[in-house]
Amino acid sequence: MKKYDFIIAGGGMAGLSLAYYLLQSPLRDRRILILDREQKNRNDRTWCFWEHELEVGRPERSSQLTARPFESVLFRTWHSISFHGTTYSGVLDMGEYQYKMLRSIDFYTFVETELAKWPNVERKNATIQRIKDTPQGGFVIADDEPYIADYVFDSTFALKLDQPENHNLLQHFKGWVIKTSAPCFDPKRPEIMDFRVDQQGDCRFLYVLPFDEKTALIEYTIFNSTLLFDKEYDAELRQYIDRFLMTGGYEICETEYGVIPMSDEQTQENPSEHIVRIGTSGGFTKASTGYTFHRTQRYLQDIVQNLAETGKPHRMVPWFKRRFKLYDSIFLNVLEKNRHPADDIFTRVYTENPQRVFKFLDEETRFFEEIRLFATMPFWPFLLAFFDVLRRKIAG
Ligand SMILES: Cc1cc2nc3c(=O)[nH]c(=O)nc-3n(C[C@H](O)[C@H](O)[C@H](O)COP(=O)(O)OP(=O)(O)OC[C@H]3O[C@@H](n4cnc5c(N)ncnc54)[C@H](O)[C@@H]3O)c2cc1C
Repeated sequence: MKKYDFIIAGGGMAGLSLAYYLLQSPLRDRRILILDREQKNRNDRTWCFWEHELEVGRPERSSQLTARPFESVLFRTWHSISFHGTTYSGVLDMGEYQYKMLRSIDFYTFVETELAKWPNVERKNATIQRIKDTPQGGFVIADDEPYIADYVFDSTFALKLDQPENHNLLQHFKGWVIKTSAPCFDPKRPEIMDFRVDQQGDCRFLYVLPFDEKTALIEYTIFNSTLLFDKEYDAELRQYIDRFLMTGGYEICETEYGVIPMSDEQTQENPSEHIVRIGTSGGFTKASTGYTFHRTQRYLQDIVQNLAETGKPHRMVPWFKRRFKLYDSIFLNVLEKNRHPADDIFTRVYTENPQRVFKFLDEETRFFEEIRLFATMPFWPFLLAFFDVLRRKIAG
């Protein structure tokens, strides 16, 4: 049986990012195996995230782990964004934050090119059938072949997210990249939420990422617990384009579909001694927003830093940071129980908390900043949600 230092089970966003960080660290000469059933040669998704202009890495982090490793392959960086809510329509002040877009094919190509330079990194196309902890290390079977390593980093574990005391919503969306005959997009400004669509009792909006005046990715997005039929997303996209964009006709060049868990269920990042779950499998998705990319980069940098310094990868979350999980649960409860119209909540969040909201969603605010943000929310729905979250946690 072949023995490795690290096996990366699943070479998608989290797996490839981890491999990249390992190669930037003092662990760069370790034997690494990456297993994935797919060849990463398609643009199967796009990642957007915001980042502070001055983000140069946390001081405690090794200087060898750069804060913006994929900057050179970003597809777009925007300095302002717009928003269309219930009482406000226009530009949002992002302050020193920038909104960025990375196409997955550019990311895969960039990382795979880097990995190819390292003879100690093996990449195998295989379907993983089993991952198990043993006293000798993390054990993996893929295409009937056994492998073992000091640590297995698993991004293939399918979360169940079915415990009734938790909130298990889904963020689901379908998007089209369209090319229009007439110029109808402002390439300097993505629309992060446009609520001018029928809310149908939950939370629905359009998301528009302009590439140039005639090309954009337009996504119809829903936060609830029931997926739609494909043709229903299509109908909403068509209706939005016809009502609000002066396209002069358009063609659909690419499509994107995705489902992201919005759940406060406790996930097990460290299920056993030699196995660490990463990415969506590790619960790295922010429950209240579905954003995963940027958090995954931060968490993986912490994991690599720990491994390099202590020989163990496990991240410790300080107790006072856990309050953000409570905030996420309360927000999910408001959405799940439909305690207040979601379009109004998002309008308040974004328009009354410019800049602060990004810091808050990055979980970097201080408590007094959080109180100022909460003060802009409708009081009773959030108070009721708070008590309901407590009741459900105690009952569970
Ligand atoms: C369409 C889409 C758009 C998204 N957009 C954003 C965004 O804009 N911003 C953001 O922050 N987040 C976004 N997300 C959420 C999140 O960032 C992505 O899902 C991200 O790819 C998660 O990374 P991951 O490594 O956990 O999973 P993946 O990238 O899906 O990687 C998992 C890998 O494991 C492999 N695998 C699974 N099972 C097996 C098996 N049994 N054997 C072998 N290999 C296996 C898969 O082939 C895959 O390559 C988006 C998600 C989707 C689906």
